[in-house]
Parts: sequence; C-alpha cells; structure tokens
Amino acid sequence: MIGAGHNGLVAAAYLARAGLTVEVFERRDVVGGACVTEELWPGVRASPAAYTLSLLRGRIMRELELERHGLRVEVHEPYLFAPQPDGRKVVTWSDRRRTHAQLERDWSRADAAGYADWAERWEEAARRARPLMLEPPDRGRWLEAVGAGILDGSIASELEGIPSPEVRVPFALQGLIGTLAGPEDPGTAFVGFYHELGEATSPPGAWGYARGGMGAVTQALRRAAEAAGARINVSAPVERIAVEDGVARGVVLATGEVRARAVLSNADPLRTSALADGSAPQGWRQAGPVVKVMLLLDELPDFPAWPGPEPWRGAIDIGFTLEDLGSAAHDARAGRLPEPPWIEAACQTAADPTLAPPGRHVLSLFCQSFPADVDADAAADLCVARFSQVCPGLPDRILARLALGPRELEQRFGLTGGHIFHGEMLPGQVLEERPGPRRFGGVEGLYLAGSGAHPGGAVTGAPGYLAARAVVEDLLG
Ligand SMILES: Cc1cc2nc3c(=O)[nH]c(=O)nc-3n(C[C@H](O)[C@H](O)[C@H](O)COP(=O)(O)OP(=O)(O)OC[C@H]3O[C@@H](n4cnc5c(N)ncnc54)[C@H](O)[C@@H]3O)c2cc1C
Repeated sequence: MIGAGHNGLVAAAYLARAGLTVEVFERRDVVGGACVTEELWPGVRASPAAYTLSLLRGRIMRELELERHGLRVEVHEPYLFAPQPDGRKVVTWSDRRRTHAQLERDWSRADAAGYADWAERWEEAARRARPLMLEPPDRGRWLEAVGAGILDGSIASELEGIPSPEVRVPFALQGLIGTLAGPEDPGTAFVGFYHELGEATSPPGAWGYARGGMGAVTQALRRAAEAAGARINVSAPVERIAVEDGVARGVVLATGEVRARAVLSNADPLRTSALADGSAPQGWRQAGPVVKVMLLLDELPDFPAWPGPEPWRGAIDIGFTLEDLGSAAHDARAGRLPEPPWIEAACQTAADPTLAPPGRHVLSLFCQSFPADVDADAAADLCVARFSQVCPGLPDRILARLALGPRELEQRFGLTGGHIFHGEMLPGQVLEERPGPRRFGGVEGLYLAGSGAHPGGAVTGAPGYLAARAVVEDLLG
C-alpha cells in the first residue's frame, strides 16, 4: 500500500483481516494524509486539512471497531450558522423539526415549509443512496435511488422551493465544495447531496467532530490495521512502482525494492500515474480551488447576529448571496482572486477542550473558489476581511495564522494540485467516470485505493474498502 491516508489504512485493515500480508509505506512521518491532527503552535493541536466528520461509513466503523480503537464522534450543533452583514442569520440543526421552527421564527412560514420539503426529499434519497457508497459504481442504480435532478442537476434548481434566497445560500454552497462551479452549474446538486450521505453520526447525515481532531480517525484506523497484522512504515516514500510487462510487481523505496502480489495506491490519480511511469487519466481535473486558513485566537469574539459562544460550536457559513457564489466561481475561473470568496468556518476548540489550553481557540477557514496558483497569504487576508464583515472583532483576536493554498496543500499532504478530493466531483469525474480500483492506468495488479476512485473524496473510507474488496476477490477468489 502506497500511502497511509484514511483510505489506505481502511484497505490495509481489511486486507490484513482477510489473511494477506500487508505492508504500508507512507511518505510523511505521520499517518492520516488529509485526515490528521497536528500541533500547529506549541500546545495547540488542530486539523489542518479535513475538520468535520460525517461520511465515514458505518459498516467500516463497526467492522474495524473504531470506537474500541479510540474514535469518539460528537455531532456539532448548530448544524450550521450563516450570519448576514445586516444582522440576520440562517441557523439549522441536525433535527429537521428544530430547523423548521427556527426558520419559521427567523424568516417565514413559507421558508420553513420550503426547507422541510427539500430536506425530506433529500433525506429519503440519501436513505436509498447510502448502501450504494460501498458498491462498485452503477449509474443506473444511483439514478433509480436519487433521480436525475440530484444526480445531474444544479444545486440552485434543487433549492428553488425555498422562497428567500438568503436561506438557500448555506445549502447551496455545500454543492460547490471542491469545484470552480457556480450554483446554477450542472452536477452541483450531486456535490451537495454527497455531503448528506453521512453515517458516522446519529442522526445519519449530521456532521460532527472527532474528539481530538481528525487524526483521531486515522489513529483509530492505524490501530485497527495493526491489530489485524498490517505493518505501517512512516517516513517511507515510495519512489516508483515496479511495473514489468504491464504488471505491478512491487514498489521501489530508497532502501530497495519490495515485491508484492498486488500494489495498492492511496495516492491521487496523477501521483499514482507518475509513480507507475504511466500517463494520467485523460482530461482528469485535479486543480485545487481551496485555501485552508488556520487562525490561533486568544478568545472568541461575538457575532452581532448571535452573540455568545453557541454559534461557534457548529459550521459557520459565509456566502451571503447566490450571486456572490456565482461571481466567486467566475473570478477564479478567469484566474483572479474571487470578489468575494466564500467560506465554511469551524472552531472545534469551542466544542472540544482537548485540543488547546484554556483561553486559546483555533478557527479554521475552509475558503473556496480560488485559482490554483493563488498566493495563500493574499487569499487569507481576503478571507479574514470577509469574515470580519459579520464578526468585526476577529482581526484583533488573531495571534498567529497558517495559510495553506493549493501549492501548500500539495507540499504538505501530497495532494497533487492541492485538490481536496483527489479530483473534482463534477460530471465527467463521478461514478464510473472515476478510475479504478482495478488495473489503474492499464497496469495489471495495480489498484487505486484513494479518493480519486469511486465514490470519491472526503473521509468516507469507501474507496479503500472497495479496493481491498477487489484485491481479496482477485487474490483469494
Ligand atoms: C483543506 C481540506 C479540508 C477538507 N475538509 C474535509 C472535511 O471537513 N470533511 C471531510 O470528510 N473531508 C474533507 N476533506 C477531504 C478529505 O480530507 C480527503 O478527501 C481525504 O482525507 C483523502 O483521503 P485519502 O485516504 O483518499 O487520501 P490522502 O489523505 O490524500 O492520503 C494519501 C496518502 O498517500 C501518501 N503518499 C502520496 N504519495 C506517496 C508516496 N510516493 N509514497 C508514500 N506515500 C505517499 C500521502 O502522504 C498521504 O498520506 C478536506 C480536504 C482538505 C485538503
């Protein structure tokens, strides 16, 4: 296994449980890939890449006994808080009825009803689609489960039944994550819907924090894989895949060659192709549109729209209007800084005291819609200014910051192009259009086990599970 990201660890655990001899080689000195907790400042730990958990498959959590191996997931409430510069706010909760009551109070009866219709329709579709996440891609089955609107349509049209555009915005931006698309673009409904397919929390579909940060997920997976007999080597970059007559025979490290009956790669499709000395999947789009900004704060400032600590405990969405979302995508596609950018923020230290000393907080800004060659510091300045429109006290509370643009994400986590999903999840790159897991790049015995493979990115464990299943079928029958 090349790489010990969460998918690599899931696959390693399943392969070892099937009785195979498994050796994992990770280039970094920590496991986890983009699902990791790191000490960013002395005594302050945070999740510099993925920061919230929902999509990890329930079956994987149960079968690998991740709770016994130390994983605790706590649903965050509110589900989201979207402040407006004029002091209004959209607030939702993991419970649909509570959200309905809140929207009726803060907006209108028609908004609450429009939300409830949409949420019920999507919840029903999500219930049908969840089992498909651990199945090989099958467009026909997905179409039957969720319908063409969700599979191929735009997030804007899915949300049309909610009268106030401001209320649509925080739901709409879920459909744009990891893309340079606007809310009217086809395929954005599926990106949003994918984020509803969670099973790691109760109720399903809610989002939560892994206690201790996202590294708690991959530490638990590491323990599960090792308990099953897998060996995990860190600081062990794979230099190339040994391919002989079109068949993967092992991997080459600085210390020599390791022969294997099957080679799995948790690395992204472009990196895996380069390691196999092959050509990248044709037309594969993996340019990252995300800048992650981590801010160390000396206290939590107030939002005029909702003073006090409560709004800091869930996701905080800064988008304001649908037009803003569209124009950000338009700017970034033209190679410009988005005016304005949109942000999903989170502050796990407001809900989990294990990460930082008292009086210190880490605010994570997941900033979207940037051109791939963006200067991360310029983007961070822009996003702090944008956030300050609804939280004017923020700039004075910042003690330190870390800005990771696509280039820095590539360097730190090995994500080629910095793409958070190993390749965007728009039409042309979903379901059967994602490569793997078998015969990656036409090489027999080479399996793609990372987010570049179906069903795609985020902390799901599904590509790792499907790759392991393919290897077990091929080697053990
Ligand atoms: C900024 C950011 C925010 C995100 N937020 C969320 C979120 O909140 N929730 C969520 O669910 N998802 C989120 N995601 C997406 C999610 O983190 C990723 O899709 C997922 O972690 C990828 O997992 P993976 O195992 O497929 O690959 P990776 O985590 O990329 O793992 C691949 C591993 O392979 C290693 N590797 C690469 N090349 C080699 C080599 N030659 N030799 C040895 N090892 C190698 C890498 O070092 C890495 O450890 C976010 C991602 C980013 C970057």
